[in-house]
Amino acid sequence: MASDQSQPPLIQITHVSRHYQAGDTVVKALDDVTLTINRGEFVAVMGQSGSGKSTLMNILGCLDTPTSGCFRVNGHNVADMTPDQLAALRLKTFGFVFQRYQLLAPLTARENVALPATYAHVPSEERLERAELLLDKLGLGERAGHKPGELSGGQQQRVSIARAMINGAEVILADEPTGALDSDSGKQVLALLKQLNEEGSTVILITHDAEVAKHADRQIEIRDGRIQADTAPAPTLDMPATTDAPTAFASVGLIESVVIALKALRFNWFRTALTLLGIIIGVGAVVAMMAIGEGGKQQVLNRIESMGTNLLLLRPGGGNTRSSGEMATLTVQDGEAVSRLPGVSYVAPERNSRATIRFGNRDYNGRIQGTTPDYIHVRDWGMARGVFFTQQDMDSMAPVIVIGQTVAEELFTNGEEPIGQYVFLKSAVYQVIGVLEAKGATSGGSDMDEMMLIPLSTGRVRVFGRDHLSTITIKVESTDQLDEVQASVERLMLQRHGREDFMVRNTASLIEAVGETQDTMTWLLGSVAAISLFVGGIGVMNIMLVSVSERRREIGLRMATGAKPGDILRQFNIEALVVCCFGGAVGLLLGVGVAWLLGQFNIAIAFSLLPPVLAFASAVLVGIVFGHAPARQASRLNPIDALAED
Ligand code: ADP
Ligand code: MG
Repeated sequence: MASDQSQPPLIQITHVSRHYQAGDTVVKALDDVTLTINRGEFVAVMGQSGSGKSTLMNILGCLDTPTSGCFRVNGHNVADMTPDQLAALRLKTFGFVFQRYQLLAPLTARENVALPATYAHVPSEERLERAELLLDKLGLGERAGHKPGELSGGQQQRVSIARAMINGAEVILADEPTGALDSDSGKQVLALLKQLNEEGSTVILITHDAEVAKHADRQIEIRDGRIQADTAPAPTLDMPATTDAPTAFASVGLIESVVIALKALRFNWFRTALTLLGIIIGVGAVVAMMAIGEGGKQQVLNRIESMGTNLLLLRPGGGNTRSSGEMATLTVQDGEAVSRLPGVSYVAPERNSRATIRFGNRDYNGRIQGTTPDYIHVRDWGMARGVFFTQQDMDSMAPVIVIGQTVAEELFTNGEEPIGQYVFLKSAVYQVIGVLEAKGATSGGSDMDEMMLIPLSTGRVRVFGRDHLSTITIKVESTDQLDEVQASVERLMLQRHGREDFMVRNTASLIEAVGETQDTMTWLLGSVAAISLFVGGIGVMNIMLVSVSERRREIGLRMATGAKPGDILRQFNIEALVVCCFGGAVGLLLGVGVAWLLGQFNIAIAFSLLPPVLAFASAVLVGIVFGHAPARQASRLNPIDALAED
């Protein structure tokens, strides 16, 4: 080395070997190579196929590391650098030109050229501008908006040279750049490399062709991994050089990553749509199922609440027998005794049955209930028209009936006035004296508005035949007395019957119990839906894995042009996340839409904030969790292998 040289040489490799283990044998692709390349040189590395040229280039370009020996760039030992520093070297110091161009098909020439600048944090507009200038300079200005498929081989190679230069590379590494070109295009490319060299770039041209090698100022011949011949190195140019150790670049910003992800997803839109489907269905199912479950719960609770609050229900049956409806233990006398307890405001003994009521030629099958005049007080129920029966009606066993809204609507369809009409019930005639206010709680078996009420005394003889009661409903003066009165009712009944052949329930505990059962249902539905979301997540992972293996070349290229493993990891993570967020959002809309539609068909629906938030959060989590394995696989890809594939 010349003594006046203050700067270390650009590239200095000493005793570098690269051995491959191929089965039992060791292939010495490079064998003890020592070589110095100075700034501003135009070097051709020449040799037959299999002589180790590409191996040398991969080591020079920091895509591969030597098995032994030392490689310095600007005086810094590459072995001491972190992977991120190596990425920075590939980004700023080296520019690759490949035999097969390695342009990304979905991107325009301009975007291909601009790609490496993404990793150098050049803002989008500036990098496209710079790309445009470079393409102009290489005579491709008019082709900037074309995709690689629309360009000739020579044009594509010039695009790839522009790409190698976008970050102001000091060294252009060209591996057989003319290998795939016809001789005219080849000459153009060589002339271009010569021009770049004259403008100050160091060019390392790799070729098997001695004719091509002649274009360089210095020829190094290699055979079987050893340097065979080397025309003397040119003295280093007196030009400023960066001799600081390379500093790693920060990762590509979030917005930039999302833009990259969106482009990739749009290019593979069909695959993206399939991936989305799993997430959309999963999130949609969670939202719709939870709305249905919640709706069912609200409905049942409304129905219970519409019976009235501060109520105690006294029913026949043991404390733990459920099917106790037919036990004949509860009597009218029990009701009278209970009504005398302190804290009790009203008591309504009830006896239920189902029966068909007839007016003219119209029938209605509903719930017939015998009770006392206090019933409407117990139930806080008002009259829509007419009156409720009185104690006199009770005493005289009057054949009168009070009907619910639904019954009235079903029987008196021609706008007849119900009050005063005679109806048939169990082959006896009753006069309608009142129509109850609508309770509104409609659905399933216990529509309160399908009720038909007759005096208990009348019904005992004519309808029910037997004496016992189905329920005694007790209204307590105030809610705080509920427990107290419940206890005294239990005491009294135990005293009267001598055994516990009854049970007392209060509506509060009923609401609680029903609410719990319904919650269980809701969560059951929700978890079935959540499983589908999980399956959707596996779908995301599956398709991302396919995507990674399909895009190996893209990943390899991004790494060769300066992307850090972390950038690749991030890119694929964000792709998965974008899919899941988008799928989640569409799924939310779908779920709400389906639930709303079901609501139109009289299925009870209730929306609450939690299920959609949970479902969306799960979708995002699915993206993070299931996107990670493919993303990690992508980031660990070896760019040499990826780029070597056809
Ligand atoms: P060239 O580019 O000059 O054609 P290469 O550098 O690609 O040669 O290969 C040099 C030698 O190393 C060849 O014998 C090749 O078979 C071998 N080689 C290259 N890559 C690998 C690898 N990944 N594993 C095993 N052997 C390899
Ligand atoms: Mg090769």
